[in-house]
Formats: sequence, C-alpha cells, structure tokens
Amino acid sequence: MHRKGIILRYRDLLPAVPEECVVTLLEGNTPLVPAQNLARSIAPGTEIYLKCEGLNPTGSFKDRGMTMAVSVAKAEGADSVICASTGNTSASAAAYAARAGMKAFVLIPEGKIAHGKLSQAMIHGAQVIQILGNFDDALGLVREISEKYPVTLVNSVNPYRIEGQKTAAFEVCDALGDAPDCHVLPVGNAGNITAYWAGYKAYHAAGRSKRLPRMLGWQAEGAAPIVRGHPIRKPETVATAIRIGNPASWKQAEAARDESGGLIRMVSDAEILEAYKLIAESEGIFCEPASAASVAGVIKLGKESFFRKGERIVCTLTGHGLKDPDNAIAQSDDPVTIPSDMAEALKILGF
Ligand SMILES: *Cc1c(COP(=O)(O)O)cnc(C)c1O
Repeated sequence: MHRKGIILRYRDLLPAVPEECVVTLLEGNTPLVPAQNLARSIAPGTEIYLKCEGLNPTGSFKDRGMTMAVSVAKAEGADSVICASTGNTSASAAAYAARAGMKAFVLIPEGKIAHGKLSQAMIHGAQVIQILGNFDDALGLVREISEKYPVTLVNSVNPYRIEGQKTAAFEVCDALGDAPDCHVLPVGNAGNITAYWAGYKAYHAAGRSKRLPRMLGWQAEGAAPIVRGHPIRKPETVATAIRIGNPASWKQAEAARDESGGLIRMVSDAEILEAYKLIAESEGIFCEPASAASVAGVIKLGKESFFRKGERIVCTLTGHGLKDPDNAIAQSDDPVTIPSDMAEALKILGF
C-alpha cells in the first residue's frame, strides 16, 4: 500500500489537522507477522501475530502518537515541545520536532536509558536533560512546566498522542479482516493499552470490524503498580521502557481491561528476557526487552491453558531491539576468538 503516514491514511477517524501542518515521517503501516514457531511452542493450536512497531521511523510505536501531537502543536503555532521519557518518547519527539523546525526538550532518568534511544535524541538536536530521579519525577516536572510556560507537552497525557496510537488497532483489523480474540501488550505509562482499546472500539463503531478483543496487559514485577494496586516509589526492571511506578493512564488502562474482559498481570525480568531471546531465536525478530513482556505474558497464559483452540492472538512488539544492544549482548554468549587459520576454523565449526 502507498505510504502516507497515519494522519492522512486514517483521516476520517482522527482529529482534523490542516494538511499543510501535517508533520510525518511516514510512520505506521508496520508488518503484522505470523509467528508459527512461537505459537507451536508456547500456545499450541492458536495463531500468534507480532505487530512489529519497531519498524516505525524512529524504531517504536511512539511515532504514531508523535506525528499527531507535533502536527497539532504546529497548527497551534507552537515552536517547542517537551517530554519526560524512558527513551523512546524522547527519540520520537526529537525526530518529529526536527522535521517540524521546532525545538525539543527532553527529561530522562539519569543512567537508565538505553543507548540507542539516547543517541537518537542527541543526534536530532534535542536538548537532553538527565534528572537525578525516575520517569515519574520527570513527568511531574514537565507537566508543571508546560502548564506555566509556552511549550507543548508531548507525553501521552497529551490526548493527541492517544489519538494517533489508535491507528495500530485499525491496522491490525485491516490486516486480519477483523479484530483478533486477544491483544497482548506491555504496560508502562499505560497510554498504549488505552489507545489500542479506544482504536478497536472506534473501528467497531464505524462498522469496519465486527468484534472486540480481550486486552491483555503485562507489567514488569518490579514496576507493577496497576497489578499491586498502589504506586511504586522506586520501580526497577531490565525493561526500561516500562520502568514506571505511577502510570498517567492508570484508570483508562483498568477500564480497557474491564470493558474488554481482559487482564493486567505481571511477569518477572527473567521471564521477559526468556521471551526476548525466544522471539529472536525462533522468529528472527529482534525487539527490545519491554516489548517481550507481551510474549512473556502469552507464555504464562499458555501454561495455564488460557487460550482456546483457533484463537487469534496479536502481540505488540513495541520497539526495535537495536535500541538496546547492551542487553542483547549481555543475554548472549561472547563470540569465540581464534587465529585466522583454516584448521582452527573447521574445528570450531565442527566440520
Ligand atoms: C513507551 C513504551 C512502552 C510502554 O507504553 P505505555 O504507553 O507507556 O504503556 C512499552 N514498550 C516500549 C518499547 C515503549 O517505548
């Protein structure tokens, strides 16, 4: 399909943006890859599909919301944007602001952001500010700054972010011909589960799909405020993109869970990393650790015989593995080093 970016592709279902204000990097239209090897090993009898959001322009789903938020900011005459970020929001804000000719300010938790993401914010010319605190602290700061000073907040508390992110649900319905039985995704600040559910409902209401999925959200054990029922002061997890202790869209995520007959549960870092390697080794798809929380959740539910035969399960892989190469290397065996010699090479290769 001809690529237009999500605003023009789904303009009948999104808030209006004057065409000359559309700031796009042709995001969206990401592949929905059937994962038969994974289905066979973790939930036999089901169909699993991976929505590969790492193939967006800056390598995560954040681009869907950012094209909307930055386009609307441009239409309103803004000249700068600000966000708090565990990494991917800052990468996306920096890129879309660069394209719009705006300044981007990003606040990140010091030392806890994957290198790929930091490098993106830096190369696109954002002003990067590390704070001695976590994501929740950073979000508190930028919310207050944007209320008092002339700068547009582009975190998912900006309603246009959620509007743009709905389009991933539209694409899933377009690709499958209807909504799946289950939609599985990691939950951090909880904007994405909110957006997918709103998207599925909007498509259904528009008569473009016939059914609604159960929403299955997964938090990391060390950062699972929704599961535990209270904010987590010091969230910790290897999955830095969901290292959030007090999600902005907490209530909306619970509504998505309850209205859809779904669930929000948690997986351990060990389970996340096991799924991370399994996706890479069995399907050839490299996602970042937070993304693998979705598949870790399917593994857990598979063991509990949660799924029925023939069910279609879509897992969102939220971001690209190249964002966080340090984790991939840490999870793998070191390369062996040998002299440049045929006999040595053959010995290692086992021929
Ligand atoms: C932002 C992000 C998440 C979490 O999404 P929320 O909308 O904050 O719940 C998960 N994975 C990746 C890769 C992300 O960038």
